[in-house]
Amino acid sequence: MENEKKVVTLTYGCQMSERDAETIAEIASQAGYSRSEDLATADLVIINTCCVRESAENRILGKIGELKKLKEKNPNLKIAISGCMVQQPGALERLQKRAPHVDIWAGTHNLHNFPSLLSRAEQGKKVAEVWQEPKLTLESTPLAEQGKLQANVNIMYGCDNFCSYCIVPHVRGRERSRKPEEIIQEIENLVASGCREVTLLGQNVNSYGKEFSPAYDFADLLRAADQIPHLLRIRFITSHPKDLSDKLIETVAKGEKLCEHFHLPIQSGSNLILQRMNRKYTREYYLSRVQKIRELIPNASLTTDIIVGFPGETEEDFEQTLTIMKLIHYSQAFTFMFSKRSGTLAATMEDQIALDVKKRRLQRLMSVQNQESQDWRQRMVGKTYEVLVEGPSKTNPTRLTGRTRGNELVVFKGNSNLAGSLADVTIIEAGTWTLVGELEES
Ligand code: SF4
Repeated sequence: MENEKKVVTLTYGCQMSERDAETIAEIASQAGYSRSEDLATADLVIINTCCVRESAENRILGKIGELKKLKEKNPNLKIAISGCMVQQPGALERLQKRAPHVDIWAGTHNLHNFPSLLSRAEQGKKVAEVWQEPKLTLESTPLAEQGKLQANVNIMYGCDNFCSYCIVPHVRGRERSRKPEEIIQEIENLVASGCREVTLLGQNVNSYGKEFSPAYDFADLLRAADQIPHLLRIRFITSHPKDLSDKLIETVAKGEKLCEHFHLPIQSGSNLILQRMNRKYTREYYLSRVQKIRELIPNASLTTDIIVGFPGETEEDFEQTLTIMKLIHYSQAFTFMFSKRSGTLAATMEDQIALDVKKRRLQRLMSVQNQESQDWRQRMVGKTYEVLVEGPSKTNPTRLTGRTRGNELVVFKGNSNLAGSLADVTIIEAGTWTLVGELEES
């Protein structure tokens, strides 16, 4: 339809942020906008922002600046900026001054109010709404887009951990868990619309339900989700190591649909730095958790996040991070240089590390991890894995892509009608980032 209004959604940051962007896009669809990826013909552009790292924030500010030109060409275009960056204490005023062409500003706690913000903006008003505390009923936001093979499902919001470098508890509030029956219902609805894999999301899924009475924890939720008919796979992210219980590891080991992949951010291999980061575990405790996983699930894939150049990090601290990486053999690691986030304790710490030192450490860390990832993929060659077929590859449509239970990407030849089903694929080659496989005859 030619006169149909179009919305383009751009997302920065973590999967929670992606999930929020889906929610806002769904609200816009319900308000009559069809989804599009073409900025030039958009009537509404929504940027859901992240403030966890300075680099993301700079990219977002650049993008907001670019949209000004688009708005000059199309004065009817509405621009909405939402999420963590807007929620930071004192940020709204600064952002409004910098980008007066933006029509809607919204924080993280009032997403469900987006329809009212949108309708006021459609009437030509500039609107800004940032709540300091979450007041919404958690289940009142629209469901994820229906009909997709994979979907993200929020199981909780906020975080209580206050790691000293992290802005998240300041912009997403304290931990709140959704009721299990609501989550299961949402997954069942997604499955009815064709979804076969869900990723359960929370800043720390391992502490899900800690406020519930009678007791009901994340392992209980996983067991319930594992029973949902026609669902093929369940993933979850992120697991705080300090709350990774034996019960949870045992549940994953026994589960049918529970993927044997743990994203377990270590952040540093040095006890001194872990303490300054307020991570509430030691290197030894972390290793004991890894040992338990390997004992019960020998083929489990482990991924992690690591920060280099945290204030006070000595060469010796950094070496301890390198040694633990070599001990654990992560299949993948997301590595970052420490960047100051105002409002966090670490931003005020003395002995900040010089940029050139941080860069050098990051390079060393990445080269160790690249080798580890390469070795991990190499060890998969010759073995057969269960793959959830996603469909034709975007870069080479003559091949299919899919993911193993460990979340490794595999490309292989096969009929596109396999999309959405499980297939056995033998790995024949390990590339830099992907695996090449051969479909087994069923
Ligand atoms: S666990 Fe720590 S790093 Fe993760 S969101 Fe909470 S405060 Fe931030």
